[in-house]
Amino acid sequence: MGNIISKPRGTVDLFGISADRYQDLVLTLDRAARCYGALPIAVPTFEESKLFKRGVGESTDIVNKETFDLAPKGDHSYTLRPEFTAGITRAVIENKLYASPDLPLKFYYSGSAFRYERPQAGRLREFHQWGVEFLDADLDLSTTAEAIALMVDQAKMLGIKPQLKINYLGSAASRARYRAALVDYFEPHIDAMCEDCRHRLKTNPLRILDCKVIADHPLVEQAPAITDFLDHEDQESYHRLLAILEALGIEYLSDNRLVRGLDYYTGVVFELCDESQPELGALGGGGRYDGLMKTLGGPEFAGVGFSFGLERLLLALADAGEKTPGLDLLLLDLSRGAEERELAVIKHDLRLRGLRVAAANCHKALGGALKMADRLKARFFLFKDESGYHLKDLSSREQHELGTELLIEKLLVLIGGKNA
Ligand code: AMP
Repeated sequence: MGNIISKPRGTVDLFGISADRYQDLVLTLDRAARCYGALPIAVPTFEESKLFKRGVGESTDIVNKETFDLAPKGDHSYTLRPEFTAGITRAVIENKLYASPDLPLKFYYSGSAFRYERPQAGRLREFHQWGVEFLDADLDLSTTAEAIALMVDQAKMLGIKPQLKINYLGSAASRARYRAALVDYFEPHIDAMCEDCRHRLKTNPLRILDCKVIADHPLVEQAPAITDFLDHEDQESYHRLLAILEALGIEYLSDNRLVRGLDYYTGVVFELCDESQPELGALGGGGRYDGLMKTLGGPEFAGVGFSFGLERLLLALADAGEKTPGLDLLLLDLSRGAEERELAVIKHDLRLRGLRVAAANCHKALGGALKMADRLKARFFLFKDESGYHLKDLSSREQHELGTELLIEKLLVLIGGKNA
């Protein structure tokens, strides 16, 4: 082989069982979102750079140092999306979806996002997100709670034990008071803090609480808490929201240091981890953003959304047990092609019943094909030799001898047809 070209750092090739699990994961998440009346939305992979500068915020790490900016084309500068909320909000404004009589708007999405971060386990430069955005002129608390409930439902459906952290950032006025208190608090210590934090003190002091350099530092632990700066209306909304979550049986941890890495959040913010694998970090997070639509030139419209990182979810699921079923049936033709038409018909009939059926290469020996069935997580193995058909149940290891008469019907009874 000559000179091989490798994939860029921080990207992955997805194939085989992992690709299968990825597809399955997206389908499971989609199905749950549909139960909440959400519809799919797709937006461009790249947008005008100014969308993210204005939308995500110039003081965030994501826009400040992590964007993939494309070479300018004429008068336009484009950036690969680092997240979806800004693009979806732009789409709602541009297509006047806010004028729909059917509010709230409820969207779900999935696809790649790009951030120029230092690659490590669970941190890539091209990764994939699955998320929702619920939007309304007057977004009620029960719709806000639905976004959180959906995220928790989905984690449970996947076999993850969710640990939900929640905080309330409050209205613009509450945040302004909190901001001022943080500046007063951190200013005397600023010389001892990292360069990013010195910058954050001026641009967005809330983000100091999220600093990786001084995480767990007493200075951060003893910093003023946002909850002490919420006005009466904010406090009431937060309590009502928590009461809805409690009524839904959703457990949460109040974390008044949780600020999240994007500038647009206003009210509730939340993050979900796997309780049994906290070292994986947040599997997903989100919050409410009441000012984003206005910032991007649209009407007064509020939103709530969250996104899961799909690679992180897959990492978590690898330990939550291999739940993804593989094939329903692997078939081996030991007649070496003599019965190719009959076998073609069997595979076709079973596939039309919704079963996942594959055939081993016809030069494979019985032992090799059985190992292949195990690797592909097949439930059943069928082989044909001169004495007839033999069906092996790979979980019970029971074997059934079958003649050609009513073969499909017998197979369906034993395997269980999906659309039968
Ligand atoms: P965020 O948009 O920053 O709230 O991220 C939402 C989720 O996306 C996180 O909880 C992670 O699971 C995932 N995520 C964010 N950045 C990365 C990255 N660089 N690589 C892989 N997953 C990421």
